[in-house]
Amino acid sequence: MSNSNRGESKLTPMMQRYMEVKEETPGTVLLFRMGDFFELFFEDAKIASKVLGVTLTSRDKNSDNPVPMAGFPHHALEGYLQKLIRAGHKVAVCDQVEDPKTAKGLVRREVTRIVTPGTLTDEALLDPHANNYIVALAPTKQGLGIAWLELSAGRFQCLALPLESPVTAQQPLRGHATHEVGLRARLLDELARIQPTECLVPEGTNNDAIQYAMTHLSDIVWTERPAWSFQIQTGHDLLLKHFGTNTLSGFDVDDDSPAVAAAGVVLEYAQDTQRTALQHVSKIEPFRRGSSMLIDETTRRSLELTRTQRTGQREGSLLHIIDETVTPMGARLLGDWLSNPLTEPAGIERRLDAVEELATDSVVRQEVRDQLSDAYDLQRLATRVATQRATPRDMRAMAQTLALLPKIKAKLSGRKSDLLNTLERRIDLCPELRQSIETTLVDEPPVVSSEGGIFRTGVNAQLDELRDLARGGKKWIAEYQAREIERTGIPSMKVGFNKVFGYYLEVTAAHRDKVPEEYVRKQTLKNQERFITPELKEYEDKVLRAEERAIALETEMFNELKQKASEECLRLQLTAEVLANIDVLAGLATLAGNQNYCRPKISSEPVLHISEGRHPVLDKLQPSGAFVPNDIRLGCNEDGTTEDASFIALITGPNMAGKSTYIRQAALITILAQIGSFVPASSARIGIADRVFARVGASDELGRGQSTFMVEMTETARILNTATRQSLVILDEIGRGTSTYDGISLAWAITEHLHDEVKCRTLFATHYHELTELPKTLKHVSNWNVSVHEQDGDVVFLHKIVPGSADRSYGIHVARLAGIPLDVVGRADVILNQLEQDHQNANGKTTVPARNRRSRQPSLFPEPTHPLVDQIRTMNIDEMTPLHALQELARMKGALK
Ligand code: ADP
Repeated sequence: MSNSNRGESKLTPMMQRYMEVKEETPGTVLLFRMGDFFELFFEDAKIASKVLGVTLTSRDKNSDNPVPMAGFPHHALEGYLQKLIRAGHKVAVCDQVEDPKTAKGLVRREVTRIVTPGTLTDEALLDPHANNYIVALAPTKQGLGIAWLELSAGRFQCLALPLESPVTAQQPLRGHATHEVGLRARLLDELARIQPTECLVPEGTNNDAIQYAMTHLSDIVWTERPAWSFQIQTGHDLLLKHFGTNTLSGFDVDDDSPAVAAAGVVLEYAQDTQRTALQHVSKIEPFRRGSSMLIDETTRRSLELTRTQRTGQREGSLLHIIDETVTPMGARLLGDWLSNPLTEPAGIERRLDAVEELATDSVVRQEVRDQLSDAYDLQRLATRVATQRATPRDMRAMAQTLALLPKIKAKLSGRKSDLLNTLERRIDLCPELRQSIETTLVDEPPVVSSEGGIFRTGVNAQLDELRDLARGGKKWIAEYQAREIERTGIPSMKVGFNKVFGYYLEVTAAHRDKVPEEYVRKQTLKNQERFITPELKEYEDKVLRAEERAIALETEMFNELKQKASEECLRLQLTAEVLANIDVLAGLATLAGNQNYCRPKISSEPVLHISEGRHPVLDKLQPSGAFVPNDIRLGCNEDGTTEDASFIALITGPNMAGKSTYIRQAALITILAQIGSFVPASSARIGIADRVFARVGASDELGRGQSTFMVEMTETARILNTATRQSLVILDEIGRGTSTYDGISLAWAITEHLHDEVKCRTLFATHYHELTELPKTLKHVSNWNVSVHEQDGDVVFLHKIVPGSADRSYGIHVARLAGIPLDVVGRADVILNQLEQDHQNANGKTTVPARNRRSRQPSLFPEPTHPLVDQIRTMNIDEMTPLHALQELARMKGALK
């Protein structure tokens, strides 16, 4: 916005300053402090009137060029900020940075805060149970750098995605270079794992993967930053300066990694918005893929790990169901654990040991949880201290939380579990800080520090003196009021105060004639008049000056206290991290107890053996005992040996029988075990999965501009190309998006590939009966089906998975249950019979396709013949009435015409 086209000559100094600030803060809605108000101008004013519902007026109404304007009282800032941020805006707050009373000329105004969705630290603006990550993506020649920061906890991580892709190397999509397609998918996977609220990208970037993410992830706020700032060298300089080191290798980050470019951008943006040095961001951690399970974006979505597919909310997700934590820090850490299940047996066992000990010792667990539930969000409090944004109430909350630590430490001492012991040792009581808050702050300090009343009496002699003076002045004023009532005989006279006139005497109109001469009239209202007197003014000066000085002193003292606390920031953060860990472990122990979970046996062999397993979400949502438990056995025999065991299970059965539930259950139990949780089963032996893949259902991908079938095949390609022997694959209805013959052939070939090449544990739910022939030729494939009870033509689903193949699919029965008209159902039965016989060859058996590796054309289906010939062949003449037979003949004749 250039000044000249607004008529520079006409601008007041105030508006000139506004324009300068506006130019400094592009892309934000600017809140500009003027007196007791925050004002917005031009386009910002229009946004405010829409989003905040404040009245749109204009400045310089009578000029040719009136300026749109809107505003709100300064004390309402937090509420309005919240609304603007929720509406997806970035906001710059420009405040008065000197006292208007002492300022000479125009009061100095500076931007004191920039608030963006990804850099929030204010408690009121943050969801306590969710992490709030800001990410930067830096495309470089060496690869794509990704860095992410949870500002409110000071957690800073990064990684680099190399350009070459293992994912689609064998399967390039037409029109795209192979590496681009792979990078797209991997970037989506990372963003799905991190779940950022805001993402920084180079201005005008033409990087394919970033552009793809920008068009497909619309719930992220995308913020452009100058392209030149996304350079490794720039980032490197910035990080070294921030951490005060001369290399990043101490953090295990390569100095020339693309990740460094991204990290620099994130850090600079965070510093810019917070306007402080961010000392609580004390390290950067490289993200290690090797120690955590790889879960791609599709799998995360379809397993509903942290959000449900339908609503995108936490409610109803696995995370929601297993979350028994009692602090927001714990809730956020549990989310982290679930997004990054472990793959190292030792790490998993360490957590399981701790959960087991807490599950067994319910007294200790409950006592620890009772203490924790009184704790405030120490992690976010520490950050507010470090960014100089802590309020007196925050400091009190911090001391109250520190006061719980000795009890928690005592409860946890002498535990058997190595992890609990380590955590106990790491609790840092921070006694000095606790004491200096407890002994100086009043019990219920105010939310804001600008109105005084923060410190106890006896803390500072000068403060006590000023307070006495102010109090004494007020007492004098009360006496003065009584005296004047007496003297003038005006019983209703009272002393009032406002910011414009200070103290005044108020007299109702009825007593106007009794007002003494020496009273000086200041204001006439409808029914009252307001006066001042020299005496009143004298005391007013005393009171106000004493009050002002007391507040100034308290502010100074409070800043000192904050400074002291911010020096302890790292200790506070570490302790907060410890509390979060204890909370998660105790929460998982509580879950295990409440839901009757068992400790899984972790194995490094690719096995999955679950007895009486339950789907964690459905099990909890259904009335107790309603969920039908099921066994799952992959990669091991009934006696536990692994030799010749089948590792691919084909599950057939009617729709709505429980196939999807069953296969998802396998994936969810595996993931739960690998975060260190007990699992919903009576026993479980779980071979660590390096990756879990879920291709479940035909999710609605039309919004992504791709055909459902294309999406299905792309995802399947990814599984076939990247799954390893240690992976767990669950497939639901592959090939549904195409014709039946196509679908069966694809499903058939895919199963063969998983069996012969990948050799990974696979659960495959399908309604293609033809596939149940597979175990005849594939040694490690077994058939399972969902048992169904048929009674008087009705079907009851028992949800019990049993060995063997389903004999029929019951789709027509389901249609009847759903209320499809009976004549349609009857007709479908006839057609079904006909089709089923079509698929039989001369000796009445379905042909098993030859397993010749070079020619994999299934000879499953006979050569096409005229449909009428087939119809005649399949007619059940014995069951036809003569009339029906005649009708059929007539119909066929009609068809031939
Ligand atoms: P399918 O994949 O075979 O079509 P789903 O797995 O979607 O069937 O299950 C259909 C419904 O049956 C689910 O919504 C669930 O309410 C119920 N269900 C599935 N499995 C069980 C079970 N083991 N116990 C109780 N109810 C179940």
